[in-house]
Amino acid sequence: MFMEDFNRLRKELVERLISEGLLRSEKVIKAMLKVPREEFVPKKYRSYAYHDTPLPIGYGQTISAPHMVAIMTEALDPRPGDKVLEIGTGSGYQAAIIAEIVGDEGHVWSIERIKELADFARENLKRTSYIRRVTVIVGDGSKGYEPAAPYDRIIVTAAAPDIPKPLIDQLRIGGRIVIPVGDRYNQRLVIATKVSKDRVKREYGIPCIFVPLIGEYGFRESEEGDF
Ligand code: SAM
Repeated sequence: MFMEDFNRLRKELVERLISEGLLRSEKVIKAMLKVPREEFVPKKYRSYAYHDTPLPIGYGQTISAPHMVAIMTEALDPRPGDKVLEIGTGSGYQAAIIAEIVGDEGHVWSIERIKELADFARENLKRTSYIRRVTVIVGDGSKGYEPAAPYDRIIVTAAAPDIPKPLIDQLRIGGRIVIPVGDRYNQRLVIATKVSKDRVKREYGIPCIFVPLIGEYGFRESEEGDF
């Protein structure tokens, strides 16, 4: 497939997401039109890059479906200049979308627990030049990333039993966190705003199914195989 084919398919997908009411804001539409998803999927799946489905990226993990990236980014509402923490780097695609929006004045810190995936994401972000706005860290993101806190926005792209306490601590007052919360088999997207030092106001979004957040404030590793 040629670059022009990918550009056409990307535009068609974005138009469909707009017509479905999932993409609404100018900044998220622009970012999804610009970031090449084909550069964030394993080579053998490149021709499926603009199918609206999750795709395998190895190690039992997935790059989320474009409609889920659209919904989560709209809910997160990152602004130019924001400091954003992402938990679950995976392919680096969601981080690139946010990096496109926060611009050169902002920055994204993204944590991935699987080293090989962090390396894969770094390569993808280098090839697409987003690496200058994204720092990829290997570790347990359920504990957040204290060195760069507080954050304006936090996005978790893996499912957690509840909002991890360290993430609330590392969010700026007035800041927002988007996270799938529930049991291991079905969750709901939670959009929470930090209203005081240790209190968040929650809103509930769509039902969803994500791979588990494995870590101290997530699910236990032994539960991973049950998915
Ligand atoms: N945002 C990714 C993208 O754009 O490709 C998709 C993320 S994938 C659905 C979820 C990722 O979360 C997996 O790569 C998984 O290894 C990672 N993960 C699970 N638990 C984690 C933890 N405690 N800390 C950091 N990453 C974690």
